[in-house]
Amino acid sequence: MNPAEKKYCHKCKKEVSCHFDPIAHWEHLLATIITCGLWLPIWIGITFYPTSICDECKEPIYEKVK
Ligand SMILES: [Zn+2]
Repeated sequence: MNPAEKKYCHKCKKEVSCHFDPIAHWEHLLATIITCGLWLPIWIGITFYPTSICDECKEPIYEKVK
């Protein structure tokens, strides 16, 4: 992971540095138990495709798939 990575934030409307939120695995484990396993695919998705968080506005950066 490159901490100096720049991404375009649609909220700030500029290139910003970003970071990845640490994944609270125990929370996802709890959610998986509560939803009888329905949460599991989301947990896996978050683990393998972490969302970038804008360092300036703290909003998740969603990259448009071209
Ligand atoms: Zn931003």
